[in-house]
Amino acid sequence: MNIRQEGLKMDNRMQEYARLAVRIGANVQKDDILMLNSPVDCAEFARMITEEAYAAGAREVIVKWSDDAVGRLKYQHAADDVFDVFPEWETLEYNTLAADQRFARIAIYAEDPEALAGIDPDRIRRASAARNKGLKEFYDKLMRSEFSWCLVSVPVLPWARKMFPGLEDEKAMEALWNAIYETMRIDGSGDAVQKWQQHTQKLRNRCELLTGMKLRQLHYTSGLGTDYTVELPKNCIWCGGSEKNGKGVDFIANMPTEEIFTAPHKYGGNGVLAASRPLCLHGNLITGIRFTVENGKIVKAEAEEGLEILEQVLDMDEGSRYFGELALVEYDSPISNQNLLYYNTLFDENAACHIAFGAAYPECVEGGCEMTPEEAEAAGLNDSDNHEDFMIGTADLEITGVTEDGREVQIFKDGNFAL
Ligand code: ZN
Ligand code: ZN
Repeated sequence: MNIRQEGLKMDNRMQEYARLAVRIGANVQKDDILMLNSPVDCAEFARMITEEAYAAGAREVIVKWSDDAVGRLKYQHAADDVFDVFPEWETLEYNTLAADQRFARIAIYAEDPEALAGIDPDRIRRASAARNKGLKEFYDKLMRSEFSWCLVSVPVLPWARKMFPGLEDEKAMEALWNAIYETMRIDGSGDAVQKWQQHTQKLRNRCELLTGMKLRQLHYTSGLGTDYTVELPKNCIWCGGSEKNGKGVDFIANMPTEEIFTAPHKYGGNGVLAASRPLCLHGNLITGIRFTVENGKIVKAEAEEGLEILEQVLDMDEGSRYFGELALVEYDSPISNQNLLYYNTLFDENAACHIAFGAAYPECVEGGCEMTPEEAEAAGLNDSDNHEDFMIGTADLEITGVTEDGREVQIFKDGNFAL
């Protein structure tokens, strides 16, 4: 192939990415109403997604724009009481759209990892609490997978600079685009959709295997200091790859995705968890996280940097100090092997085994999506307005499981699946 064709082939990658987000990610169906959340800096990609969605038969695409810089200015200069309220009209907007059977959502998550560095953490906490409260009904539906939703990411300059500090702006953007395409299995040959179908099948097979084992406990150890035992709820389900929305349509909530996950029992965790990568939380970087856990609750949080922000998030509600997700990702996986720190949870969580503090996904327990809040609590599913993944995977991570009938099974050895 000559150079011109090669260039053309590469140029099609963004289009292929948009197609992947629409056809495989949100899996937009004929007559769907698609809400697209996008930073203004990602307008080119947002337009491509819009075009692909209409090509897939969308009835309407509603774009909601955001901007890091404008967001920062608001935190700096807006009246103080602004941060305690989430506008009623916006709650109404989200709830009205999500009430429609045809609703689907794609969000482009691309931000300056330090967009809010130096901002009063109290303003961030209040605004985030108000938003979570205002969108509670919407997020509950999302957590129950009532509608299709998909989170994807594209480069923005401050993010590319942060990831590739040694490169000129243009080169840094190019490097980040290439890295993202690699994680998305897009190489320009136009077969990414098929590759994703195979990949999600592999993840689903693994979920079936682990669900079938009927594990009741996991024990994690790593050289970083993780030594953690956690009970699993009865009839827990391992999820991963694609999932089904309320109408039975497959969708992939996060792209890329390399994880399979389940819920821990809310009160069943004991020991120490040491994070293996920094966590980007509300535009701030938290490094060297270490949690001491008793009966599921984080009784002590330590961090090298950003402890104040971390503590504020942990104190947001009762469930924030309990856990909601246990995810397995092989150390030897495409994102992990890139050896890049993305400062973006969407990617970093797929580079390593992780655990989330905050809400559990009800789908992780049999019948969980039909449970009342009281039933979910009794089943051991944690509830919170938060859900934050932090990475604990290392090259020497070991995980041993115990099944309901008392058998010991090695799940992870040297950072990878032992099964
Ligand atoms: Zn996860
Ligand atoms: Zn998560």
